[in-house]
Amino acid sequence: MYKHILLATDLTDDTGYILKKVRKLRDYTGAKLSLIHVVEPMPGYSYAYLGIEDIEGQLIEESRAALAKVGESLEVDKKHQWIEVGPTKSKIHAVAQEIGADLIICGSHGRHGLSLLLGSTANAILHGANCDVLVVRLPEEK
Ligand code: AMP
Repeated sequence: MYKHILLATDLTDDTGYILKKVRKLRDYTGAKLSLIHVVEPMPGYSYAYLGIEDIEGQLIEESRAALAKVGESLEVDKKHQWIEVGPTKSKIHAVAQEIGADLIICGSHGRHGLSLLLGSTANAILHGANCDVLVVRLPEEK
């Protein structure tokens, strides 16, 4: 069975829905659990006019704090919490590889029209992953 699960979270409200399943799957398999959130790099121009000197640094810190809360609720310690900066898909794959994850869990919304054509993050994670990927279908957005 799975030995090391990597949960990819966008840190939105959807996370709560996924957590319940992750918790059960972790208990069922006895797998180790790691968490990842990827911060997309910000273009290198200044946001000083908004009163923010280092917007990327601020995003990283906020993400770290939000991921720590998820970690607390799942009892995942800090050294298994990953905040990466870069393209979401490749960072998730790289960390999965580095920690030897054998299952990546992510969410997906039902999609129609243009967003279906453009593809989702879940799709991107699925393609090129070297391990199983579990996509949790999220409740419809209202
Ligand atoms: P989306 O296609 O943006 O609705 O995202 C689908 C799923 O991909 C989310 O439920 C997360 O599991 C994962 N995901 C999206 N963005 C990120 C991110 N920045 N870092 C980690 N996982 C993400």
